[in-house]
Amino acid sequence: MDIPFMRLDRQYAARKEDLDAAVETVFTGGRVLQGPEVRLFEQALAKTVELEHAVAVGSGTDALSLSMRALGLEPGGRVAVTSLSFVASASSIIHAGGIPLFVDVDDYYLSRLDTLEELIESQTIDGIILVHLYGQMLETQDICEKAQAKGIFVIEDAAQALGATHADKPPGHFSDAACISFDPTKVIGAFGSGGSIVTHRKDMAEKCRCLRYHGQSKKGIYSEIGYNSQMHTVQAAMLLEKLKYLNTWQEHRESIAARYNDAIASLPKIQAPRIAEKNTHIYHKYVLRAGNDRDRLLEHLTKAGIGTAIHYATPLSKQPCFSGKAEITHGGCHKAEEAANEVLSLPIYPELQDEEVAYITEMLGKFFR
Ligand SMILES: *Cc1c(COP(=O)(O)O)cnc(C)c1O
Repeated sequence: MDIPFMRLDRQYAARKEDLDAAVETVFTGGRVLQGPEVRLFEQALAKTVELEHAVAVGSGTDALSLSMRALGLEPGGRVAVTSLSFVASASSIIHAGGIPLFVDVDDYYLSRLDTLEELIESQTIDGIILVHLYGQMLETQDICEKAQAKGIFVIEDAAQALGATHADKPPGHFSDAACISFDPTKVIGAFGSGGSIVTHRKDMAEKCRCLRYHGQSKKGIYSEIGYNSQMHTVQAAMLLEKLKYLNTWQEHRESIAARYNDAIASLPKIQAPRIAEKNTHIYHKYVLRAGNDRDRLLEHLTKAGIGTAIHYATPLSKQPCFSGKAEITHGGCHKAEEAANEVLSLPIYPELQDEEVAYITEMLGKFFR
């Protein structure tokens, strides 16, 4: 069997008619930028996360750096961020003029809350990016209240967490804003790039709207230096179509994850993902932990035709691009470094067939026999 890590072709094939129709409407209408579908998509997305505002932009990375700019991050301002994530969680801080301060992770691969609390308490940071990694959220309410009391902003990097909740609340409810990505690999993926800021703060939404188009505050008046980061109408139209399936696709993901969990429960030396209290896990990624068997297990699965990936093989604190441009919290990022050597992601997408999941679990079992 050949099971690639991702199968975007299947998703398109299953929804081809509706997606093609959405594209045609945009091309026929001619408003390829700032078309009506962008607004419609923003409304649908805001409703999905139970917030008032969504501001669609060119990518999740732009959503992050625009929000930090909107919150007035000063040049050289320090922003705490996890050391285990996709590079954009931290590079966006540098784009916005700040300095990333890397924090180690806990057993759920999320930023250590005690470290964040210390940083808030000592007021040695200007902001926090809370990354909801792999599809589950970090606790937000308490940390946001503590940060806000000290004038420290909090942005949620919810690029991997659309659909997830903590204490029944989706991202964006207690922080200044949450940022979502519609990169093709994400749970709702564009046919290209796309992202959005979602927020309960009207002032924040207005500022981001202004920044995403050259800082234009009124027609022809540019009140500050902005970006050109618009979501293309054709992407919004297709995302609007895909967003309808968020819940259905989520159920498929959960049932695949449950089957992986079952299989792993009987295997020695592998650990299934843990879910923190009050969390739902959307399994944007299904990340198991295989200790020092990881590389051999990867090789075994590759030989069996199963595509896997490592998220992430190098912690951000060790990425060359941040050398000299970032700091590491006192105590280091050892747990993130350990995770980087031991984690392995299995294929998980709604279109994965039953017999494919069965084959993957069978091959996992064979490795230990
Ligand atoms: C994908 C991702 C981003 C960046 O989103 P893009 O749309 O690819 O720019 C940021 N943070 C995390 C955690 C991501 O997974």
